[in-house]
Amino acid sequence: IVLTHWVPLTETGTLQGVVVVFHDITEIRRLENIRKDFVANVSHELRTPITIIKGYAETLASGGLENQGQATRFVSIIATHAERLATLVDDLLTLSRLESGNVSLEVKSVPVEVVAGRVASLLEQKSQAKQILVDVSGLAGTPLVLADPGRLEQILVNLLDNAIKYTPSGGAVTFSAACEGNLVRIGVHDTGMGIATRDLPRVFERFYRADKGRSRDEGGTGLGLSIVKHLVQMQGGSVSVESSGRGTSFFFTLKRALTLSGEKRPLHEDL
Ligand code: ADP
Repeated sequence: IVLTHWVPLTETGTLQGVVVVFHDITEIRRLENIRKDFVANVSHELRTPITIIKGYAETLASGGLENQGQATRFVSIIATHAERLATLVDDLLTLSRLESGNVSLEVKSVPVEVVAGRVASLLEQKSQAKQILVDVSGLAGTPLVLADPGRLEQILVNLLDNAIKYTPSGGAVTFSAACEGNLVRIGVHDTGMGIATRDLPRVFERFYRADKGRSRDEGGTGLGLSIVKHLVQMQGGSVSVESSGRGTSFFFTLKRALTLSGEKRPLHEDL
């Protein structure tokens, strides 16, 4: 609390009264701290790949090119970390646009199972490389939802990508849907490493990682779930997560589209 006071005096110098004004700056301080933390986090996240790129490039420049095998390996490390930087900058831009409310939505009636099927094919290479079975059949017959199809795809890409990243080879990812009043609750379930109870409330925070080492090894930015949360909330839904030691379930809700009986469901190409 900041206190400012004003003591008006009359012409003869006698005290006329006192005006005291209280300003509650708790919220301003809180926002300022969040901003400072954010800048510190961004700087740290950017510095790590830059330091690595710089180190390997300097080694190559000072004679490291002579050993062909080693040079090829160093160049590939530089490429990996440059890719990390690009992903991080993309995620930061997405998040900043979402947080400034500078994003438009094109809401339609969307069949979730079609979008999920497309997302599963997009990530097929990754899931097959780890022999993870991705099964979207749990979404068959789900009522249409009111959503921006591109944004819904982004949400599902993030959740499925995480499910694949944090599930060991041979696991499985399944989808579910349940109606709750005028909402549809969509679930993405994996048989992976799970999330500790103490980390559960924080996984949707920017840069929060339950398992830092694993996230970085997998090229994670720590921003995916906060992007998911924004995308869901701007479409009128909410996110949640459950984990009980082994396996994790992420849920999000979307509004159910009211369809007239007999109305044609949109085709894949319409989305
Ligand atoms: P990241 O880029 O690190 O994956 P996210 O914001 O997408 O960032 O996720 C935040 C953290 O939540 C991850 O670092 C990971 O520790 C945890 N997490 C997310 N999804 C899963 C999952 N399906 N299984 C286990 N842990 C997960």
